Amino acid sequence: MIEIISVANQKGGVGKTTTAVNLAASIAITEKKVLLIDADPQANATSSLGFLRSDYEYSLYHVLIGSKDINDTILNTLIPTLDLVPSNIGLAGIEKESEYLDKKELTLKERIKELKEDYDYIIIDTPPMLGTITINALSASDSVIIPIQTEFFALEGLAQLLNTIKLVQRTKNPKLKIKGLLPTMFSKSNNLSKQVFQDLINHYSSKLFKNKKSGKYIYIPRNVRLAEAPSFGKPVILYDIKSSGALAYELLAKTIIEEAEQ
Ligand code: ADP
Ligand code: MG
Repeated sequence: MIEIISVANQKGGVGKTTTAVNLAASIAITEKKVLLIDADPQANATSSLGFLRSDYEYSLYHVLIGSKDINDTILNTLIPTLDLVPSNIGLAGIEKESEYLDKKELTLKERIKELKEDYDYIIIDTPPMLGTITINALSASDSVIIPIQTEFFALEGLAQLLNTIKLVQRTKNPKLKIKGLLPTMFSKSNNLSKQVFQDLINHYSSKLFKNKKSGKYIYIPRNVRLAEAPSFGKPVILYDIKSSGALAYELLAKTIIEEAEQ
C-alpha cells in the first residue's frame, strides 16, 4: 500500500526540507520505492539531491498547471529506489492564482493517482506558508510530519498549523493524520533546546515520534553533516553514513516502516 506523507510547518528554516530529503533517502535505502515531491518553489529538496535548474526541463509546476504528465517530470537520483519530482520558482505563481484554488487543490491528489510506477512511499516537501500548495499537499496525504526546531519561538505558530490540519480534515481530507511532531536541531548542551524539548513533551507527548523498542522520543540532533550534505547534492546517508544526523533519520525511517507493517 502506498503511503503519502507531507512534511509541513509554515515556519521557515525548521528542517522541513532536511527531513523530507533524508527521510525519503533513508526509507529508499531499505529498498522500498520512494518518490520525493518537491512542492516548495525554492526547490531546496531538488538541489539537495544534486539537480541544478539546467538539469531538468519540467517540474511540479508544469504538472499542476496541467501541461505535463507527472510521469514525464520524474528524475532518478543516486539511490536507485528514490525518484524525485523537482520544483522550480514558477510554482510560486500558483500560490497567487487563487481563482484556481479549488481546482488546484484537487490536482496534486489526482496527479499522484496517475503515477505509473508503484511507490511504497511518497514524501512531499512543502513551502514555509499555509497557502494553496501546502493545503494541496495536505489534501493529498495520508499523514503529516511536523518538524519543530528546538529553539526560541519553536511552538509559536504550532496552534495555527494544527488548526489548518483540522480544517483540511474537516473539508478536504478526513483521513489525514498527524504522523508525528519531530524535534529538530536538538542540542543536548543547549539549555534552551532542552527546555523546548521538555515543553513539547509536556504539551504534545502523544504526538511525538517514539521508538517502540527503547521507548525513547525520536529527535534529530543538530549535526553539521546534515547542513553540509546538500552542497554535495547528496542525502546525508551517502555523505556521512555514521554521522548522528544520518543515524537519526535512519531511526525515524525504521520507526515509520515498522509502524506501517504492524
Ligand atoms: P526548512 O525546509 O524548514 O526551511 P531546512 O531543512 O532547509 O528548513 O533547514 C534550514 C537550515 O538548517 C538548512 O541550512 C539546513 O541545512 C540546516 N539544518 C536543518 N536541520 C539541521 C540539523 N539537524 N542540524 C544542523 N543543521 C540543520
Ligand atoms: Mg524547505
